[in-house]
Amino acid sequence: MADLKSVPVLVPVGFHAAARAALQERFDVRDLTETGLDGLSPAERQEIRAIASFGNVSAAMMDALPGLQIIGSFGVGYDSVDAAHAAAKGIMVTNTPDVLTEEVADTALGLLLMTVRELPQAERHLRAGLWEAKGPYPLTTGTLRGRTAGIMGLGRIGMAIARRLEAFGVGIAYYNRRRRDDVAYEYHDTLEGLAGAVDTLIIAAPGGASTDKAVDARVLEALGPDGILINIGRGTTVDEPALIAALAAGTIKTAGLDVFEKEPHVPQALIDLPNAVLLPHVGSASLHTRAAMGQLVVDNVTAFFSGRDVLTPVPECAKAGVPLHA
Ligand code: NAP
Repeated sequence: MADLKSVPVLVPVGFHAAARAALQERFDVRDLTETGLDGLSPAERQEIRAIASFGNVSAAMMDALPGLQIIGSFGVGYDSVDAAHAAAKGIMVTNTPDVLTEEVADTALGLLLMTVRELPQAERHLRAGLWEAKGPYPLTTGTLRGRTAGIMGLGRIGMAIARRLEAFGVGIAYYNRRRRDDVAYEYHDTLEGLAGAVDTLIIAAPGGASTDKAVDARVLEALGPDGILINIGRGTTVDEPALIAALAAGTIKTAGLDVFEKEPHVPQALIDLPNAVLLPHVGSASLHTRAAMGQLVVDNVTAFFSGRDVLTPVPECAKAGVPLHA
């Protein structure tokens, strides 16, 4: 078993505090500051064997760290890590699936209810004193009653959303690249086909090239004027200018978004739209769930250097046969 204290682990400043402390207790933690790798001398770069990451780990960054063996990514989505490059170089990448699934599904349902029943707008009405001064908030034209939801990305989070939607009496259909043989929900083999068959489209798919701007003008057109778009996946999956145009023109009814193309920037045109509910990427953002995610990063990196298999390798590395421990 490796002497963990001799293993240099690069940890970004601002990383989950308890996870950083746990890594610091076991490993030789080095700071990754805003200056990136420029903040490390060439000799220090040679030494790094692991990165704990919540952001971008590019191919160039991996290539600049010749001793790198594992990237412990914080989050289930790892579109900001070039996992294909890592796998090709024999570098392990781990993510944090499962521990955040229920929290994110809760957020998705909250966002859907907020959006369809205009709950943030109604709350603003009360806080502005309008209830007393002018009367009740108007009846909402939207309701969850009688709706059918189409889920793009019926994976761990998508399934947890589907389970909740069943309890709400909402019909369910889905689009994945592959049909699941363990569910009876109606399957569509194109996103446009799914959007045309439902009135509520929920995005729970990963980001990255395969989903880039998949929700485009044609998909929004297919969703139609009573349509609701909920995005809990990644902002890059939606063509944001096309969505803004569709909301402004009434091509779809309303949208609830937790994720955006260029976070933390949110286009002013989106902020100005009255028929959009916008959350600052809070899907998994509870102390409880973030602690579990941080612990899983620590457990993966610790297992790797202790001769035990990592717990949650990403599929690219598992498929490529990247060693599960050092
Ligand atoms: P998962 O279990 O891997 O599920 C992903 C699903 O998406 C799978 O069913 C997959 O099916 C489908 N999919 C993948 N690529 C696709 C494509 N190009 N077109 C259509 N469907 C595709 O992952 P998860 O744990 O549910 O997480 C899903 C995503 O949620 C993450 O990747 C992340 O981006 C996002 N997320 C957001 C938050 C937040 O705070 N808002 C928090 C956590 C996660 P096929 O392989 O058959 O296509």
